[in-house]
Amino acid sequence: MSAGAATADAARGMTIREFFDGVREGRLVVQRCEACGALAVPPKAVCPSCESIRWGRTTLDGDGEITSYTVIRVPPAQFAAEAPYVVAVARMTEGVSFLGRLTGTPIDGVQVGMPVRFVGSSTNADPPVIAFRPR
Ligand SMILES: [Zn+2]
Repeated sequence: MSAGAATADAARGMTIREFFDGVREGRLVVQRCEACGALAVPPKAVCPSCESIRWGRTTLDGDGEITSYTVIRVPPAQFAAEAPYVVAVARMTEGVSFLGRLTGTPIDGVQVGMPVRFVGSSTNADPPVIAFRPR
């Protein structure tokens, strides 16, 4: 591969498929603006901070904290056997947030501010379901 091709590859936007592949492999890979460093979740074509279209990738460290959550007692049919379960918003150390499943803790122990760690997907289904556990 020539240097020019590598540069073009690095600058393109990320697809949601690439993001899901990372989740399935236990990594939170997100777009990072090469001009200003802003992170884009979900992937975007144009940087909302500086309007650049040059994107790189970065892998988040996986640590965050719960900023909001709810208990799902009447789930979609595909998750019926898992209810009740917790769906939470976690803000990661890097400042971006994800909606995902909180696992590995009793429902009545969940609190806003709880430190969590991204642990991959909670299911083998496609698309994967982002999962967090308390840390
Ligand atoms: Zn930017």
